Amino acid sequence: MSQVDRLSRRRLLQKLTLAVPLLPIAVSQLNLALAADAPLLSPNAPEAKALKYVEDASKAQGAAAGSTCANCALYQGHAGSPAGPCQVFPGKQVKAAGWCASWAPQM
Ligand code: SF4
Repeated sequence: MSQVDRLSRRRLLQKLTLAVPLLPIAVSQLNLALAADAPLLSPNAPEAKALKYVEDASKAQGAAAGSTCANCALYQGHAGSPAGPCQVFPGKQVKAAGWCASWAPQM
């Protein structure tokens, strides 16, 4: 193996060492980008009804005052956006002002 081959191999390994830990971040960002185009969850959908999802948290039964999707740990929308993805309802977006029985406080 020549000196040039060893250097190339070393550089390749260095790049892989940097790239591999970033892969999950890239995948999660891609998932978020794809989810941002997802349709809104209908409150009438069976999975929404099962968790008492409503688009307006002020009308939710059992919601603690001030708890909304926007401040739920499972919400993945951007701050200030009217809707965003939710880990509980993959492939759908929920309203930032919404709420469901799976609401969890942010850590
Ligand atoms: S889990 Fe959180 S973000 Fe998702 S619908 Fe329920 S309250 Fe909203």
